[in-house]
Formats: sequence, C-alpha cells, structure tokens
Amino acid sequence: MKIYNSLTRNIEEFVPNEPGKVSMYTCGPTVYHYAHIGNLRSYICEDVLEKILRFSGFDVKRVMNITDVGHLASDADTGEDKMLKGAKREHKSVMEIAQFYTDAFFSDCAKLNIKTPDVVEPATNCIPEFINMIEGLLEKGYAYKAGENVYFDTSRLKEYYVFGNQNEEELMVGVRDDVSEDINKRNKNDFVLWFTKSKFEDQALKWESPWGVGYPGWHIECSCIGMKHLGNRMDIHCGGVDNMFPHHTNEIAQSESYLGHKWCNYWFHVHHLNDETGKMSKSKGEFLTVSLLESKGYDPIVYRMFALQSHYRKPLTFSYDTLDQTTATYKKLKNRILSVKADGQADEAAVKEWHDKFADAVGNDCNTAMGLTLLYDVLKSDLNGATKLKIIEDYDTVLSLNLLKEDKKEEVDDELSAYIEEKIAQRAQAKKDKDFATADAIRDELAAKGIIIKDTREGVTWSRA
Ligand code: AMP
Ligand code: ZN
Repeated sequence: MKIYNSLTRNIEEFVPNEPGKVSMYTCGPTVYHYAHIGNLRSYICEDVLEKILRFSGFDVKRVMNITDVGHLASDADTGEDKMLKGAKREHKSVMEIAQFYTDAFFSDCAKLNIKTPDVVEPATNCIPEFINMIEGLLEKGYAYKAGENVYFDTSRLKEYYVFGNQNEEELMVGVRDDVSEDINKRNKNDFVLWFTKSKFEDQALKWESPWGVGYPGWHIECSCIGMKHLGNRMDIHCGGVDNMFPHHTNEIAQSESYLGHKWCNYWFHVHHLNDETGKMSKSKGEFLTVSLLESKGYDPIVYRMFALQSHYRKPLTFSYDTLDQTTATYKKLKNRILSVKADGQADEAAVKEWHDKFADAVGNDCNTAMGLTLLYDVLKSDLNGATKLKIIEDYDTVLSLNLLKEDKKEEVDDELSAYIEEKIAQRAQAKKDKDFATADAIRDELAAKGIIIKDTREGVTWSRA
C-alpha cells in the first residue's frame, strides 16, 4: 500500500506502527449546519481509504470527533463560535443544533455508503481531557496565560510550519474569515487553547477550568480525542486540504510538545470540491446538500461514483451536467452487472488474482479511477458469470456503489398514484399562477412522503426517494 504523505510531500510505502494494525483519525464535521457535498467528498475519500486498508488486510481502528464547541467563524480563533451562530439562526439551543446536524450528517453518510467510524466522540464529551492536556502544556512551558485566555507559544518550536514549503499567505487560505489582531498573542501564529474571555460574552457552553469559566479552542479537541482512543502514536490522520493550516499544523504543534515525540506518521488530505463560482462553503448561504440532490431526483450513490472517478489529490468541480453524465454511466454499469448470470462455479484462484490486482491498483495512493477501470475489465473478461459476480462483490466492499443491489421495483397502488398526479397538477397550476411558495410547499409535502418530483423536458416525473 502506497500513500502520499503531506508531511514529507512524497508517495511512501504505508508502514503502520504495529504490523497489521492501523490507527486512523478523521476530523469530523462542525455540526452547525448540514454538510455540503464538498465536505462529503472528503468523507467519501476517507471512507475509501479506510476500506482500501481493510481490503489490503489491515485491521483498522478509526476515530472521528464531532465539533460541537470552539470552532470560531475564522479557523484562527476569531469571530463567533459557529455553533452559537447556528443556534441563533434557528432559535434553538446549541445542543439541539448539535444533535440535529449530527444526525443529519450520519444520515447523509448512510446514503453515500460511508461507514460510521469505530469511535465517534463529540468535543463536549471530553472537556476534562482538554483541561488535562492544557495543564501539561503550561507545565512544560509551551503555553502561557494572557488576557485571561491560554495560548500555545509557537516560538518554542524548532519547526512550526511542518507541512513544508508554503508561504504564510498561502497558509492563511485556511483561515476563512477576516483575521483581526489578538493583542494578547506573543507571536502572530500562537493559538488559543482555552478561552475564558472572548469577545462573545454570550458563548452558550462554558465549563469550569483552572483558568476560570470558559471553553476550549478548536484544535485541542482532535489531539485529545485522538490520544484518548488511539494512544500516543497514530498512523494516519485525515481531513480536507483546508485543515492543513492552521488546524493540523496546530494539532501537531501541541501534541508533539505535550508528548515529547512524533505523534502521527502519515497525513492524508483531500482536495476541495468547487462549484462553478469557487470553493464550496457552508457560510456561503445556499449550498449543495445530499437532500438537494435527492430533491432533484439524483441517487446519492451517483455522487459517490462522481467522487471516485477523480483522484482525491486533485480539485474537483461539480456541475449538474457532469452528474447527469455520471448517472448515465452508473445506470449502464449497473445494467451490465445485473445482466451477468451466476453461471458455473466461482473460480477461487481467479477471484484471488483479481483481488490482488485491485489491491495494487487502489493501493497506489487511492487510485479509485483505476479501480473502476478494473471493474470494467472484469466485465469484459471471459471469466464465467459466478466468478465475475464474486469479484464484483469483493470490489464493492471498497467502492460501495451498491453494484449488486437490484433497483427497487416500484409498486404503487392506484390511490397513491392518483394522489401524486393530483399534487403534480396542483403544483403546475401554482407555477402558472407564479405562486412559487405553494409550488415549493407541494414539492416539500411530497418529499416528506418519500416522493421526489423532477422537472424534465418531457414533463414532470416522480420517483421514490
Ligand atoms: P467542517 O464541517 O467545516 O469542519 O468540515 C468538514 C470537513 O470537510 C473537513 O475535513 C474540511 O477540510 C472538509 N471540507 C471543507 N470544505 C470542503 C470542500 N469544498 N471540498 C472538500 N472538503 C471540504
Ligand atoms: Zn480536527
């Protein structure tokens, strides 16, 4: 298994600390809003990485945090806590928002066949661990108190920019909003470990600490949650490329200062999904979600296929045209697979040979496009039907494209059918009257019943979600 390591900027042979076992950490979502399909590109690629490792025979333990406190509007400790922003927007409590969007995230993941990690831990579960680590950093002289906050002192490090030859301007791309100067910081890149005094006095969640009532900074959570479940040495850490700076840079700074040794060997970063206007982001107002794709009649698995067709280290641009093409490709592929008859007996030697070919292909820095090519090679080959189906089943443990699943045959009773047709007619009339609120309400009413309608050139069609 070979993997590109952002730390060394090289493709390396993947060698875990303990033979055969992999400890893997993924930065989880900030649950103040739905995940957009850009976020989900990262989670699809990380899911595939985990499945490739398992396919190659490794025993993987994967941990993910849920960010439900401390992630401010700017990744660099300024602005409002994103969770509080979400709560205000929806007139709910922070914990209600966290629960709602955590559930929504895992529901989206399920639709995309993204496996839930072995351990999922919300940041608010681990406040004592954060306090403990911050105390350790203060004792060792890597942290200081100023203006009633606790900061990490980056000037204590020999090398802070561990991800290499980026210049500061490039690095600041990871800092999403305006960065205002924090006069308490001794050095520009110092970051907050614990806030007791923030510009936002109404921070909803606060805890007792040796430094007063307050709340943790964002970066500390991934270091602590990682160590809590994976010990003091981690094999591989994943996230989107915007997490490289400041988030992962700061995670490494504090973890290695605290531990006194190297913390994580491999860093895996997924490049961004962009839309035609640029990088997708949750703060941009209307953004693309899995539900939005579904409401337009797309199967979420087609989005997974779209993500797998490209390499995780290349930026990817989303468009509905490309998704339409992928839908057609996916349907054709499924039809070909479903027409394979399970003739004869599976040739186990061939299954093993094709397993190894696939492991080599996708094990080469997660080359999922090559994995898909091999799938077509299997279909084209002169193997018997039973062997082909067994190989495809094997490949689908990584691709997770429901390749062998029969599409549901729609069984609709007359009454339901009449009801839907009537609603479609009412919606058409509402649109004609330019009463778009009613038209949208009718679409939502049907969606709530699991019926998705789609406007096509040939008229309105509908299907089950
Ligand atoms: P967040 O919920 O904002 O903390 O982000 C969750 C994950 O999505 C992180 O790993 C981000 O790096 C990643 N991410 C954010 N925007 C994008 C994007 N446009 N494309 C791919 N991944 C992204
Ligand atoms: Zn993280």
